[in-house]
Parts: sequence; C-alpha cells; structure tokens
Amino acid sequence: MATRLEFATPETPGERSELQELARRHLWMHFTRMGSYVDHEIPVIVRGEGCYVWDEHGKRYLDGLSALFCVNAGHGRAELGDAAAAQARELGFFTNWSYAHPRAIELAARLASLAPGDLNRVFFTSGGSEAVESAWKLVRNYHRVRGEGTRTKLIAREIAYHGTTLGALAATGITGLRSQFEPLTPGGCHVPNTNSYRWPEDRDPLWAADAIEERILFEGPDTVAAVILEPVQNAGGCIPPQDGYFQRVREICDRHGALLISDEVICAFGRLGHWFGCERYGYRPDIVTVAKALTSAYAPMGALIASDRVAEPFMEGKAMFAHGLTFGGHPVSAAVALANLDIFEREELCGHVAAKEDEFRGMLESLRDIPIVGDVRGAGYFQAIELVKDQDTKDTFTDEESEDLLRGFLSGELYRAGLICRADDRGDPVVQLSPPLVADTEQFGEIEGVLRDVLTRASERVR
Ligand code: PLP
Repeated sequence: MATRLEFATPETPGERSELQELARRHLWMHFTRMGSYVDHEIPVIVRGEGCYVWDEHGKRYLDGLSALFCVNAGHGRAELGDAAAAQARELGFFTNWSYAHPRAIELAARLASLAPGDLNRVFFTSGGSEAVESAWKLVRNYHRVRGEGTRTKLIAREIAYHGTTLGALAATGITGLRSQFEPLTPGGCHVPNTNSYRWPEDRDPLWAADAIEERILFEGPDTVAAVILEPVQNAGGCIPPQDGYFQRVREICDRHGALLISDEVICAFGRLGHWFGCERYGYRPDIVTVAKALTSAYAPMGALIASDRVAEPFMEGKAMFAHGLTFGGHPVSAAVALANLDIFEREELCGHVAAKEDEFRGMLESLRDIPIVGDVRGAGYFQAIELVKDQDTKDTFTDEESEDLLRGFLSGELYRAGLICRADDRGDPVVQLSPPLVADTEQFGEIEGVLRDVLTRASERVR
C-alpha cells in the first residue's frame, strides 16, 4: 500500500543544486521513500504567495493542498511574520507549565468565543498528533477521576488518520501505518467509516453510526472512554457523514457514557466553510482537537478544546491534568494564531468558502465524463475524486495497479503540470483537493485544466 505523498520527478539535466545535495545527504523527509530520490530530484519549494508556491528553479505551482491542509489563509502573509517578530521581541518564550502569558490567554479566550456551546477550556499542544494524544489521555483521566477508571478505550473509524505518536496511531485506522510499530497503545478500536460509494442501495443510511453502538456493546460500555471522529474523514478521500450521522452518534455516546471527540485538525478554521467542522453538521462534541490552520501553519501549534463538563473535575482543589508539553501555548505561535484569526475575520474566509464551494465542487463534478472518475465527494474546500477502473461496476484497482497509477504516473504528472494535490491510496485511490481558502474562480479553472488533461491521459493508460 502506498501511504505517502512523495513521488519522484526525473532529474533535470545539468548540475544538482547545493540544496539538492544537502537534502539528499542530511534531510530525513517524513513518510518518504528516500530511495526514490537517488536519481530523481527532490521537490524543493522556496517561496509562496496566495494560492501559489515556487520551486528552486523558479517554476510556479498552484498549491491545491494548502501545504497539507495547513495554509488556509494562503501563502506570503507578511503580517503573520510581523506578528511573530513582534512577539519574539516582547517575550520569545515562556511556558504554560504553571505560568501563563498574554498571548496564550488571549488565544484561549478567542477560541472559546468562536467554538460552539460550552467548549470553553483550551489546552495547547505543538501539533495535531499531540492534540489527539492529549485528548485520549484527558478522556481516560476524566473517567478515572469520576470513578470510572475502566473506561480507557477509544473508538475510531477504519482508514481514518489521527496522527503518528503511539497513542494517536492507535486511533489511526490505517493498517499499513500501524503494523510496523506494533504493539501500539492498547485500546484503539475501529468501526466502519461513512464512505457509502459502494454500499448496497438498501442499506440504512445510519448503518455506520449504529456500528459504533454495536462496537461499544461488544467492548463493554464501561470500558469505552470516547469516540473520535473527523467531521469529514480525510484519509480514504474526504468522506462526508450521512445526514443525521453525528446526531445518532451523539445519542449513542450519551446512552453509553462515552465522550465524543471531534478531530478537526483539518476541518476547523474554514475548511468546511465554518470556524469548526462540527458546526457544519450541527453536533456538539465534548472535545475538539485542532492544529494546522490554527496558525495557517506559519508557526506550529495545536490544541484541544474541552467542554466545561470535561474540564470541571480538573479545576478544583488538588486536582490536576498531569500532562504537558514544553511548547504548548508557545507565545510566538499564539501571536501568529491571533493574527491569523484576524485575517479570517477581516476577509470573511469562512463565508468565502461557503459562497464558493458549490462552484468548486461543480468544477470537479464536470470531470465525471472522464472514464477513470468514479466518485466526487467532500465538503467546502475539501474535496476528492475517487478513481475507478470502471464507472458502472465501480471496480477499483489492485494494490499494484494503484501503485503504478498513483506513483508511477499521476503524482508526477500533476506536479509537472504545476498542480500540487494529493494522489493517495490509503483507502481506494483518490485525488484530493484542498486549496487555500482565498482560492477563487481563476484557481478552479486552472485546477480543472490540469485535472482534465492528466486524468484523461491516466484513463487512456489504464484502459
Ligand atoms: N488528526 C487529523 C485528522 C489529521 O489530519 C492529522 C494530520 O494530518 C493529525 C491528527 C496529526 O496532526 P500532526 O501531523 O500535526 O501531528
């Protein structure tokens, strides 16, 4: 199974740049087959502006993935750098272990004011995996201090990605990512996701929600700490929920005393046209995890936002959530996050996505005449095309075919054509698009042009 983003572009003739040489010798890239680059060029991105980035040769690319679902406000926002510099001059670092500082306080209050309901208590982390890891520890601890210490398990969905630290990895439902690192943190249980593309027509639309209840009953409700779900599941290709899915899940969680964690590391901050993904589907989680676009990734930062109910047992007397991360709430990152949220508000980025998502989606739907295009799905600026061998039978590719199609052809061709997006087969093969939230009609047109050409050639190749 191919699980990575990397692909190899053939070496351009001539001398390798010094950066290429140094990268080959010293940089250990993440989720990357380093061997692919022995005789191929490493894509070195050097600059960004709006929806575009440039490589070391000066070639421009449309960043159709927001640099891994991160740069929601777009590239080249000097004011985010200015906010970081001003903060570094004022107070470069202080910790949130027993101390507070103005930016962490202001950001916590601002997130609480933006988050729905009583999601009022913010615990900062350095990124998404740590946010998920922290959420799992918090739900275990919450139940323990309330006298239900047997509640330790976390129910997640198949193919969902929740991060790579051993706890977050135990929530991640991708066998190929897990198997090399077993044994993982005990207690990760998995249920079917909501990808209904191949469901039998007569299947109850809330089948996947009910599967969560079945699993809770199978495990024993008094062993289940929480259910963790993304509003729209990323891995597997932007999988939206069925109507009423989250309402049913909420009922199930309440019936069995499990907490509901909404993992919004991707879906928060405008990706789905709302501040938080849960708002789009009208459900109330007990904890939300965020990262990536909290700062539009101009500085690393994540957080969990807990409801008053979940935080309450830790707020009195000698009680303490005995967990911490040196960089949690880093003042420079917090200053960048505040400035990033200012941009979101000033430019009404959530509203822009809500206004433009039908046009974006319509553009992708228009590609359905290409034989390899099976399903088009997603929400907001978070959409995927599932690739199939046959549109009528929905027949998918074997692992080998998928490897050849995605790595041998699509990833490289899309990149060469100047479009950065994700060709992925952690479930069935998909191409994912998730542009910066400032993307508009012009960028949709460019994406369409590249996809039409490359997917048509891919269709011919697999025929
Ligand atoms: N949760 C979700 C839903 C994610 O998409 C990711 C990363 O893509 C993570 C958690 C892990 O975040 P990070 O890579 O910042 O550790």
